[in-house]
Amino acid sequence: MSATFPPLARRLDGLQSSAIRDLLKLTSRADIISLAGGLPDAELMPRDRIAVAADAALSDRSRLQYTESPGWGPLRDVLAARESARLSRAVPVEEIFVTHGSQQALSLLSEVLLDPGALVVVEDPAYVGALQVFRAAGARIVAVPLDAEGMRLDVLRELLATGERPAVVHTVSNFHNPGGVTLSPERRRDLANLAEQYGFWVIEDDPYGELWFDRPSPEPVAAYSPNVIRLSSASKILAPTLRAGWMIAPVQVCRGVELLKQGADLCGSALTQQITADLLSDTEWLTAHVDSVRQVYGTRAKALVDAVRARFGDRVSSTDAAGGMFVWAEFTDGTDAQALLARALEFGVAYVPGNAFAVSTDYTHSMRLCFTTSDAATLDEAVARLAKAHAATPAQ
Ligand code: PMP
Repeated sequence: MSATFPPLARRLDGLQSSAIRDLLKLTSRADIISLAGGLPDAELMPRDRIAVAADAALSDRSRLQYTESPGWGPLRDVLAARESARLSRAVPVEEIFVTHGSQQALSLLSEVLLDPGALVVVEDPAYVGALQVFRAAGARIVAVPLDAEGMRLDVLRELLATGERPAVVHTVSNFHNPGGVTLSPERRRDLANLAEQYGFWVIEDDPYGELWFDRPSPEPVAAYSPNVIRLSSASKILAPTLRAGWMIAPVQVCRGVELLKQGADLCGSALTQQITADLLSDTEWLTAHVDSVRQVYGTRAKALVDAVRARFGDRVSSTDAAGGMFVWAEFTDGTDAQALLARALEFGVAYVPGNAFAVSTDYTHSMRLCFTTSDAATLDEAVARLAKAHAATPAQ
């Protein structure tokens, strides 16, 4: 007898599981080198330092207790000091709100800032986790394409000129996931000015800003306007398991988020928040740790880009990976990246086809390559396999 359950809410209609997650199930075979994953390298996560901090945290029984909804006080203090330096202004602790990863900040903000049907502008290609959140909030989504300098503000201006008024513009300002590019300083200023002129919020989603390779990331968009809510995270510099993200936002926004956070999970984990505070305030250790992550990722990024250039020449154009975790590459010879994937898996390499991130632009010929979890020689081998798969695929 098959059970018939009562119905689920209509808001689930049309929501889909991320295509990337489904692809990752396919690519976990041991004989496949995966450039698909999009995860930081667990080998670089500071397990021993986390263990020391965890021990210290557990010596205080109050860390087993609930904590405040906006986050454990000393963590917010550390974050306020860090963000004051980043934003070149004194950020009061009331403007810091700790979330369960920056993903939860996106989720709570979508409820605080968006009424159903509100217009949200995202980048194309888009961070899929943001798309999922905005779709679940019932937003109307319009995409603005990226170029080498980040979000194309000429296209955003055209949209504004038609009378459209976004409630929120979402941007991944540094080392875009998946697009690899960084919003230029000029565009940061212009985007902040547009936000004030047209009265919209900008969510500056910045989990990768500290992972620069040659030169530090530009001033955050949030440095230019209080309309910009900045999100950051410990996931890429320390470890995702801490689930420590934070937002810097005007107090009214933080109050709204607090009301919803109470309903969502009461509060975060005082244990992992104390661990995070311990590591972030140990500045000498942190500087050395983040430097070493940058160095390793920088070497890997260069190995990947060099291999792509050596084996594909001008048949592939790619971003130069100045930081972050991803290279965005486009076949210029008409190759369909989705069609090539089946052949690539046979040859033992995986990536994510560009259309998995597409909103309204066609990314048939593009792919996202993640360089974080393989060493330089393995990345070279991955690209060699991709070149063989490409050579074995009839031209389209
Ligand atoms: N924003 C972007 C652009 C991301 O790439 C990610 C992680 N993949 C997140 C937010 C969420 O990260 P976390 O919740 O671990 O802080």
